[in-house]
Amino acid sequence: MTDFADEARSRTAHLLRMANTVDARLRAQIIEYADSTPDPPVMGPTGIATAGCPLCLRTMWRQRDGWVCASCGHVEEELPVSCPNCRTVMKPPPTSAPDRWWCSRCGRVATAGDSTTEIENRERGRLEAVRLLDRAVAQRADRRREAEATAVSWAFSAAVTERERLRMERAALRLRP
Ligand SMILES: [Zn+2]
Ligand SMILES: [Zn+2]
Repeated sequence: MTDFADEARSRTAHLLRMANTVDARLRAQIIEYADSTPDPPVMGPTGIATAGCPLCLRTMWRQRDGWVCASCGHVEEELPVSCPNCRTVMKPPPTSAPDRWWCSRCGRVATAGDSTTEIENRERGRLEAVRLLDRAVAQRADRRREAEATAVSWAFSAAVTERERLRMERAALRLRP
């Protein structure tokens, strides 16, 4: 068998390659093991995602296409995401929308399999963005107030100048012989 064909049956082939044996009995055992156990959990950016199994309450692993319980083998396509802050089930994303769960009580957002730390970090980022936005809006309001004040003072000095001009003109008229 070529390496290329090996890759097509990746996990079983990988285990057989690691075992590096021609013992038919051992190879059969390895194949049986590979077929009877779920694929190793998917590694997310912050490690392996786990959740509680709704049936046996033991650990479920996130797989590419859902969740599998390591103990009882129960499979869930998607588990509800709970808000780590409010302990309530977050609102699921609409069908075919991106994986974004949302807490209607505190506004936290999560993707399925997020750890509490990830959700809290994202929330900190969200609050920071809101704070920066508020500040930008406040600064713009300040600048508008300043601009208005400047416009008023220009108008005022223009009026003063105009009055002065008229007074000078009148004075000039009076001075005329
Ligand atoms: Zn279970
Ligand atoms: Zn919440």
